[in-house]
Amino acid sequence: MVLDNLKDSVRKFLTGSSSYDKAVDDFIKELQKALISSDVQVKLVLSLTNKIKERLKNEKPPSSIERREWFIKIVYDELSNLFGGDKEPKVTPEKIPYVIMLVGVQGTGKTTTAGKLAYFYKKKGFKVGLVGADVYRPAALEQLKQIGDQIQVPVYGEPNSNDAVGIAKRGVEKFLGEKAEIIIVDTAGRHGYGEEVKLLEEMKNIYDAINPDEVTLVIDASLGQKAYDLASRFNQATKIGTIIITKMDGTAKGGGALSAVAATGATIKFIGTGEKIDELEVFNPRRFVARILGMGDVEAIIEKFQEVENYDKVQKKMEEVITGKGKLTFRDLYNQMIALRKMGPLSKIFQLMPGIGMLGQIPEDQLKIGEEKMKKWLAIMNSMTYEELDNPSIIDKSRMRRIALGSGTRPEDVKELVDHFNLMQKTIKMLKRRKKDVEKLFGGQ
Ligand code: GDP
Repeated sequence: MVLDNLKDSVRKFLTGSSSYDKAVDDFIKELQKALISSDVQVKLVLSLTNKIKERLKNEKPPSSIERREWFIKIVYDELSNLFGGDKEPKVTPEKIPYVIMLVGVQGTGKTTTAGKLAYFYKKKGFKVGLVGADVYRPAALEQLKQIGDQIQVPVYGEPNSNDAVGIAKRGVEKFLGEKAEIIIVDTAGRHGYGEEVKLLEEMKNIYDAINPDEVTLVIDASLGQKAYDLASRFNQATKIGTIIITKMDGTAKGGGALSAVAATGATIKFIGTGEKIDELEVFNPRRFVARILGMGDVEAIIEKFQEVENYDKVQKKMEEVITGKGKLTFRDLYNQMIALRKMGPLSKIFQLMPGIGMLGQIPEDQLKIGEEKMKKWLAIMNSMTYEELDNPSIIDKSRMRRIALGSGTRPEDVKELVDHFNLMQKTIKMLKRRKKDVEKLFGGQ
């Protein structure tokens, strides 16, 4: 079992019929197995699963989120932390000039990636140079030159030489002399069958000759478990600082990446997502883990959590409005509608509003607002300026006409919303006066 199978485990967990506790135990066991067979250190695996268990014990799911979804969110959070959490890798060089040496086996996409990197940095405004030191693949230099022409980045190579170390050295020196800011050196992937030792020796020699600021291992996403050995061997020859995973656009595999990280301690910096020159993304740990766990399922869960967070924010603001610290504006009403819309039918909006619905102060017809009307009101609020949203009292007849035109409604509709809003404000004022009720409602705050 490798990490890629986790998608199925997530599915099974979310839709399975076994009891929650058993499903959690099973999932954690599968996660451990998957990580260990991807060669992640046992210690790391245990600390990860312990953290998950601890959070399960100490935290509670938000009321509107199912326990199973909450559990997957915890797994997602903790797994993301393994890859760097919320931090995106640093891609801007720490010093200028900066020499990047690319290593990896043939066919991984090293040459293509060299071009992509050059393009990435050129677009950021750096003066870039490419060095083609892959002397064993006949077309490698030609390929690099074509890419260089396409993106207008100079390429150094020596077509009839097989002195990879010399080429790398002369290439870097030439570009340093030309005041290049970032120099990217493409190296060979293979010498011939069974000649890996020679390849690694060559990497070491190139490394010693050019003394790069960063060695980047390029690996293919589909490499799976083999990535661990491969990354370790390269790491022994030249200390790997960063990793680029190519071909992430194919079947989204993840085990290899994790193995490579585990083997080298390096950080993943970019991922390749296609053959084209601009198909290179800065690595984002969370997005990557979502891919491993099954993008669709996980994204839906994360979205739900965000909705809950937004809802909580709106709720807090409304509490402030009612308890006297804040003022109600259309913007609050709008945010509240958007947040509530995702939580359930819009028509329930006022019942759900903290304070208002619960107090039963508002006549039934004010509470029951139809779905259609809610949609209309959202459109109307969308056509208001920020100034109008924040200060609804400025909405006079001519503004009403303009808003109606912009939202495809009638001025009467706009007036109805404004009237309703005024009524809400009045009700809130009344509630504020009835301090006793409010204190009772919010536990004496
Ligand atoms: P090298 O031998 O490591 O230098 O590999 P190449 O750069 O020649 O790439 C090998 C093949 O992989 C080429 O057909 C590339 O177009 C393709 N390739 C490289 N990166 C990606 C990627 O991120 N996605 C996809 N789909 N193909 C890629």
